[in-house]
Amino acid sequence: MVGEIREVEGLRRDGMVVPIDLSVAEFSINHISYYTAIVRDVSLRKIQEQQDKAHLDELAHVTRIGLMGEMASGIAHEINQPLTAIVSYSQACINFIRAEKPDLAQLGNALNKTLEQALRAGQIIHHMRDFVKSKTRHRSTVDVNSLIQISISLCNSDLKHNNIIQELKLANNLPGIAIDGVQIEQVLLNLIRNSIDALKDLPLEIPRKLTIHTYLNQDNFIECRVKDNGKGIAEADQEKILTPFFTTKPDGMGMGLSICNSIIRAHHGVMSFSSYPGKGTTFYFTLPTQGKING
Ligand code: ADP
Repeated sequence: MVGEIREVEGLRRDGMVVPIDLSVAEFSINHISYYTAIVRDVSLRKIQEQQDKAHLDELAHVTRIGLMGEMASGIAHEINQPLTAIVSYSQACINFIRAEKPDLAQLGNALNKTLEQALRAGQIIHHMRDFVKSKTRHRSTVDVNSLIQISISLCNSDLKHNNIIQELKLANNLPGIAIDGVQIEQVLLNLIRNSIDALKDLPLEIPRKLTIHTYLNQDNFIECRVKDNGKGIAEADQEKILTPFFTTKPDGMGMGLSICNSIIRAHHGVMSFSSYPGKGTTFYFTLPTQGKING
């Protein structure tokens, strides 16, 4: 008891029960031990603590609601892409069927693409549901270069349609890393789609280029760069583009980059960009090759 502070309840003279801190100190004079008890009324501190707790609870609630909002916008954003693709592939199928002599090979191809996109939408929903249900992340050892190949193949028709030349400079010494492959693929898809949007309005005489570069940087992090020679980002907009709901596109949601940023941060990496209006933009992100894989 000596030297400790105990929280006890005391009875005030007016009959009110109050919380008190009680501590006992020992000292000796001429080899005789004496004890002093210090009693402190801590009602005010208790009230303050309760207020702080209520405030923290409220904050946690607001944060949770904010996260749910972000998640809902995220789902809408991610699902919108495959749905748009499904709409255009289905439209193409209808056109093929209406032709005088329907080309079954083309029809089959378009149906396969529709199926691929529908499966992808399902995968995103499934993944988000798991994410909400538990904190367990789906991390496994993944080769970043192969995620890039998959993402490029998912955007291939858009790249071709917009005459974009793609160049992949992928290092062959990258170690497999423990990441959530679907999430990193979402990051890559977002960055590639943004580059396509930035490139598609360039005058025809300028070759449109998209380069994806991976390498192991000095800090032993995998670094991935997605570079385009598109219209670039106006200087005034550069500090806003990573914030939710900022968009310069008529049909944009402005959620893509803020989601990418959260995903990379949850993987203990960093995302950033450099952009020169009229010349192009490079987005880059890093991923640690070892160590912390919780998130
Ligand atoms: P959205 O694509 O729905 O607008 P994002 O968060 O992905 O949402 O992007 C926010 C904004 O950042 C875009 O509207 C655009 O102005 C700008 N941006 C992103 N990537 C590029 C890029 N590669 N080139 C030029 N501008 C870009």
